[in-house]
Amino acid sequence: MKEAVPGYYQNFQCIADRCKHSCCVGWEIDIDDETMAFYESLNTDLGDRIRKSIEGEEPHFILGPDERCPFLKEDGLCELICECGEEAICEICSLHPRFKNFYPSFTEMGLGLCCEEAARLILSAEEPFSVKMPENIQLTEEETMFLAIRQTIFAVLQDRNQNVKERFDSVAKLFGFSFDFSLKKAQKLYVSLERLDESWTDMLEGLKGFSFDESIFKSEKFQIFFEQLAVYFVFRHLAEAMWDGEYGARVRFALLSCFLIGALCAQIESVNGQISFEKMADVVRQYSAEIEYSEENVAKLMAELSCC
Ligand code: SF4
Repeated sequence: MKEAVPGYYQNFQCIADRCKHSCCVGWEIDIDDETMAFYESLNTDLGDRIRKSIEGEEPHFILGPDERCPFLKEDGLCELICECGEEAICEICSLHPRFKNFYPSFTEMGLGLCCEEAARLILSAEEPFSVKMPENIQLTEEETMFLAIRQTIFAVLQDRNQNVKERFDSVAKLFGFSFDFSLKKAQKLYVSLERLDESWTDMLEGLKGFSFDESIFKSEKFQIFFEQLAVYFVFRHLAEAMWDGEYGARVRFALLSCFLIGALCAQIESVNGQISFEKMADVVRQYSAEIEYSEENVAKLMAELSCC
């Protein structure tokens, strides 16, 4: 299948032992059939240890008490890669933080914001987001229409003659709604969702009673950050609209995500008197892990946003 990738895609490199929120901690790691067959064929002490560290009908690694992958070394490196090379890790590990969107004529690859290095790369990119399409591709009629709609959204979100708040207003208008979310309602909605880490609850609780004036979306220093963030959510989540036609709900999801992240960052800034790019990117990383990487949470939000 032909692949399309964002301009920044090839610049990504896992920072492994320098990563503060390793994807080898806190996530269930499912083992695909091919890798399982490889583990079963390993006649070494490591092979024995690997097999003893796997459980379940859908095989996955038994995480340690602190939810660490049993093969994540103290120095933050992967023992399986160190001992046997990249081929020894399961598909999910070699893919992460990449995601795929499937279209009839091509597959789009992206980098997910739940990885701190991907978040740094994406949210600091001065260059406007673009997708490199495969050469000599014959698009279907549906794909052509979908890409034209998406490009219209990107063009508005990337119009640097307007501030980000104005761009959000314009995109919402295109789909017949207003960018006027209620923080109280959004806070309640997000608190009701499934949780990965309780520190996320504390962050959401911090929004109670916070008066969000949305000026963060107009601030010069955060324009690139919120532009890239909004474009990312559209790039990642609009794809399904080609099949179900739910463009409005998905655009709402993208803008609500930016709104909530903006409110969280503004609240932190109001408490500390300032907020760094690193802290903002970390809020995004946590949002992505809590919301985007839970199919249940995305489904609940989409259901909520489809009916308004
Ligand atoms: S979260 Fe990203 S940078 Fe960190 S270990 Fe995983 S892939 Fe590497």
